[in-house]
Amino acid sequence: MSEPASPGDSSRSFDRAPFGLAARERLLLAPYALHSSDTAGRKHPEPPHAYRGPFQRDRDRIVHCAAYRRLSHKMQVFTGELGDYHRTRLTHTIEVASVARTLARALRLNEDLVEALALTHDLGHPPFGHAGEAALDECLKDEGGFSHNRHGLRIVEQLELRYQEFPGLNLSIEVLEGQESRIGPGDPHDQPLLEVQVVEAADSLAYDTHDADDALELRLLSLHELEEVPLWRETAQRVRDRYANIDDVALRRAVVHELVDVQVGDLLSHTSAQLANYGVDSAAAARRAPWLVEPSPALAQQKIELEQFLHQRVYRHPKLMALRTRGQQVLREMFAGYLARPELMPASFQSRAAEVGWPRSVGDYIAGMTDRYAEQEHARLFSNRDLGS
Ligand code: MG
Repeated sequence: MSEPASPGDSSRSFDRAPFGLAARERLLLAPYALHSSDTAGRKHPEPPHAYRGPFQRDRDRIVHCAAYRRLSHKMQVFTGELGDYHRTRLTHTIEVASVARTLARALRLNEDLVEALALTHDLGHPPFGHAGEAALDECLKDEGGFSHNRHGLRIVEQLELRYQEFPGLNLSIEVLEGQESRIGPGDPHDQPLLEVQVVEAADSLAYDTHDADDALELRLLSLHELEEVPLWRETAQRVRDRYANIDDVALRRAVVHELVDVQVGDLLSHTSAQLANYGVDSAAAARRAPWLVEPSPALAQQKIELEQFLHQRVYRHPKLMALRTRGQQVLREMFAGYLARPELMPASFQSRAAEVGWPRSVGDYIAGMTDRYAEQEHARLFSNRDLGS
């Protein structure tokens, strides 16, 4: 690997120092946390680093990779055409990591692992969010389809070429397994680690709250409409009780804070109770128990109501549907265009085609694009319908 060898690399000095990682984790982490010294390692073995634990290293590799930087120009729900207030895929990722670290610290889980998982969780999104994902899935239907979660794994295992010794980022097995668990229902008797469950909870909590906030800012929704949703209405009432003369803008901001706070508090108390109920005393025991990191049944129901409301009133808003249709058309035309004229792709994707086939390599290239780059390339290469025929 290209990281310089550090003094003490082979002596696991980060483990043995009095205030080293292993000592700190023994002191601070719960017995059911995944301790860094218990990692299953990496597919391509590497010597330990002198002062960074394995998951700190994973976190650093993700933050420095191209797919992570590109998240800044990939849409979460709303595109750049709608303004620059709302979340991008990158700011959403950072918010998920922030909430997940808070949960992990309070539950005494491995924060470094949680952060690495959170920063990885949306790396595989193509341009134009879930609309782009559906378009690529259709384009690749004869090749096994396209899913952003599976593509995230391809990025960290194959597509990021940053090291001489191996393809991908050679992340720890626990980070890869966490991403794999997002692909589909796994074995119910082998749950993901609690650190993985925390990231799932943080993702759901972040997007519910922040999609409502963004939709209000973009005036796709009004505060009055959101009062139909019990979770929002009750939270807003608590805020009004506290600040009698609050105006609408300040109310919205306060409700968003309060919603995050209420959900984090509820998750922590319900999850702590579940850990105690099931007598979970090790990471292995947590895997055999049911899914444990979740909101209380009452709050889970309220979250479902908020999500249903967002689906009906925001995600299917005519303004978003028009952008969705446009984004899908761009990706479909580019897919057909590059298949017909593969020499227009970078050389690395042309040579990959020998290994994975042309359709998958075209899909990989398009999936890596930002929204803006996809629009530019489409306009430059394929907006003329005669091209590629
Ligand atoms: Mg997400």
